[in-house]
Amino acid sequence: MIIKVENLKKNYGNFEAVKGISFEVMQGEIFGLLGPNGAGKSTTLEIIETLRIKTSGKITVAGYDLDKEPNEIKKIIGVQLQTSGFYPALKLVELIELFAGLYNRNVDAMELLKKVNLEDKAKSDFKSLSGGQKQRFSIATTLINEPKIIFLDEPTTGLDPQARRNLWDLIREIRENGTTVIITTHYMDEAEFLCDRVAIIDAGKIIALNNPAALIDDLIASGFEKEKQTKGANLEDVFIHITGKELRN
Ligand code: ADP
Ligand code: MG
Repeated sequence: MIIKVENLKKNYGNFEAVKGISFEVMQGEIFGLLGPNGAGKSTTLEIIETLRIKTSGKITVAGYDLDKEPNEIKKIIGVQLQTSGFYPALKLVELIELFAGLYNRNVDAMELLKKVNLEDKAKSDFKSLSGGQKQRFSIATTLINEPKIIFLDEPTTGLDPQARRNLWDLIREIRENGTTVIITTHYMDEAEFLCDRVAIIDAGKIIALNNPAALIDDLIASGFEKEKQTKGANLEDVFIHITGKELRN
């Protein structure tokens, strides 16, 4: 286990946004936090990332106690910053060098851009990128300090189907290279495809936690049946089939 969260609570004034949740993330897995808007996903992530103060509870990351050694935690995690935080007029290579400087790291900017399939955009400025390219670039910035764990908060929201699938491949590759991934998403197909285990969080509480297949089996075992016989394909399959898988920009 690489992350352990015990009875985490977060209040904003009188409002209890996170109501005592506990979970563990295993080393090398893709762990999903699923839940509707306002469930407390981002709050939970940002607390583990040391960016927000918790109200109570205990968190350890790679053996470090969040209360005692937050700086050790910062060194081994990669956090996806809001893309609005990037200087829009800097070239991608310049942005990577800037971040590398902040992390006090030497990075091969071109190598990193290659990893996320943006090497031909190295000399472009951030604002000229498409939505999918911006997301890929922001994922690249999480890798600068060669983290053990990366945190992705809704990385595919707003992307077209091609860009979404492309990002799935990238996230899987990052995991294949040994990095633990925590991701939030509203897309259940994405969670089913990517996540080894998911926690479903609603109104500040975890209401289910397991691997996607087991959650589905539990539902079926409880007597659940779909109203309509499902077809062998859906509209998204049609879309991908006729427009192709390749990225557009
Ligand atoms: P999610 O990421 O699951 O959509 P958030 O963690 O962003 O949920 O928010 C959980 C709840 O806490 C929401 O009701 C949200 O409005 C509230 N909230 C989040 N940040 C703040 C804040 N800084 N001050 C007050 N309330 C907040
Ligand atoms: Mg959120």
